[in-house]
Amino acid sequence: MLVPTVEPPFPLSWGFSTRLDPPEALPARRLDQVHRCGIVEASEAVVEGDGQWTTRPDLRIGVRVADCVPILLAGPLADGTPWVAALHAGWRGATGHGDPEPGGGILRRGVARFHALGGHPADLAWALGPAILACHFEVGEEVIGAARKDPAWQESLRSEGPSGKAHLDLHGFLRAQALDLGLDAAKDGSVALCTVCRPDLLYSYRRGETAGRQWGWVEIR
Ligand SMILES: [Zn+2]
Repeated sequence: MLVPTVEPPFPLSWGFSTRLDPPEALPARRLDQVHRCGIVEASEAVVEGDGQWTTRPDLRIGVRVADCVPILLAGPLADGTPWVAALHAGWRGATGHGDPEPGGGILRRGVARFHALGGHPADLAWALGPAILACHFEVGEEVIGAARKDPAWQESLRSEGPSGKAHLDLHGFLRAQALDLGLDAAKDGSVALCTVCRPDLLYSYRRGETAGRQWGWVEIR
């Protein structure tokens, strides 16, 4: 288990699983992820969505990924109630591309939900988990085009790979969004390991593993 490198704002457990973690250490599967930006309050039911949040202690919530970015958020609401979220962000989730609802990508919507419940974005501890990083994330120009529509986009997030095709820095893009949303750079506990570079530790869909997944999960204590 890889643990975000930031002190949580209240007692919690959280982590990014690896292929070495036993299944019993992982959350129950309660999301049917569809590469969109739907965020739901977690319950025992299995529902469609790509993000979950909760204020309930002892409820382990999470998202499953194998190249997409797992995002964990933890912060106090206005009355001090602990609030946590787990979000799944591939390029579609990160940009909001193809989602019929307005509001941008899933990180923007997750932070907006926290804010709507009375939280201050600067109070959030946050972490992006292992994902396909810029070294391996070759994308079509339509992906770069979708990312360019985000107000936090910077051209330095696009690089040219060995084949001459574009590579996208998805971690860097989400980090730029986080700072644009008022999150505190000092509360960034991201674990920047590349799923393609680390077959010893991580599953990668792009590398050809279509079944294995790792989790980003969080549980209020
Ligand atoms: Zn890599």
